[in-house]
Amino acid sequence: MKNIAILGSTGSIGKQALEVIENNPDRYSVEVLTAFNNVDLLIQQAKKFHPNVVVIANEEKYKEVSEALAGDDIKVYAGAAALNQVVEMGTIDLVLTAMVGYSGLIPTINALKAGKKIALANKETLVVAGDLITRLAIENKVDILPVDSEHSAIFQCLAGEYMNPVEKVIITCSGGPFQGLSQERIATVVPRDALKHPCWAMGAKITIDSATLMNKGFEVIEAKWLFGLKPEQIEVVIHPQSIIHSMVQFCDGSIKAQLGLPDMRLPIQYAFSFPERICNDYPRLNFTDFPSLTFSAPDTKIFRNLALAYEALQKGGNLACILNASNEIAVEAFLKKRISFQNIWNVNEQLMRQASFIQEPTLDDYIASDGEARSYARELVETLLLKH
Ligand code: MG
Repeated sequence: MKNIAILGSTGSIGKQALEVIENNPDRYSVEVLTAFNNVDLLIQQAKKFHPNVVVIANEEKYKEVSEALAGDDIKVYAGAAALNQVVEMGTIDLVLTAMVGYSGLIPTINALKAGKKIALANKETLVVAGDLITRLAIENKVDILPVDSEHSAIFQCLAGEYMNPVEKVIITCSGGPFQGLSQERIATVVPRDALKHPCWAMGAKITIDSATLMNKGFEVIEAKWLFGLKPEQIEVVIHPQSIIHSMVQFCDGSIKAQLGLPDMRLPIQYAFSFPERICNDYPRLNFTDFPSLTFSAPDTKIFRNLALAYEALQKGGNLACILNASNEIAVEAFLKKRISFQNIWNVNEQLMRQASFIQEPTLDDYIASDGEARSYARELVETLLLKH
């Protein structure tokens, strides 16, 4: 029996992780559930899965949660400090990090220091501080298992190949809803257009990141840290059907791919059960439903975020941390209809030039860089406001 802590249980990944657990009650139990704001769903999940501990990050909602769960023998805590500490509980076997953005950093660091196995869905943690996180994982002999579908695919392709040199990995990308559109058309898109993802149903932040290709850029950085790759060993290819989830090309030119219907329960389940596979009855891929699988190169002249991510990877230091902070502010401003879609990458590009570069950042440097980049990005957003 594995006791699992789900950080971010009310989000898209958190909900699907609970489905995986519900389908395998003899293997997994829920030890901890945490959420930022979604009190109703958190309470409902707690009543169904009976975790030992529930944490609501927004302290103002503590009373509501604790009162609702008063008769259920569940400990309720609130606030960021509780969230950071709860991962250290002795009864936890595995921590699924499924919160949004930078908020995953400190809980992940604490979980690593406590020796907890990590199922990593919060890619921003590796984007912000990949060197620090991978070093802590090695020092504490902790496995980081990828939940991101592309990285799970690469991980599955690498199974049994640990001694064999990898030439490169090929990360597939659905391209989001705006592939093939002109600059002029992209200039007019609004949040409603960007939130319609062709293949995956996900949270708002990651859906916008998919539309700008920032998500793919972050996945390139994530791949570097998870698999120890050089930037030139990571290729991105547009594959609109999202059937091949990613590939590995070995030193003999042979390529292995992992395929399946786009269903996040599969990579979540694999991270939970690795190295085993668990039988399930989820829908199967039928090749005749997909008579043509197509591939093309991404246009990084239009979708600047992908080029910026490669630049951050090449230069290293705190540049990816700056990019992530800037992007969180820019995406939020776009979702509130304050700036245009293209200004998301314009803000990011300017921030990468403007914020203080540090070649070998410590954790404190990362925290300071994140704060600096956010305040510069907020100032920049004010100069770019859309006229309504
Ligand atoms: Mg992904």
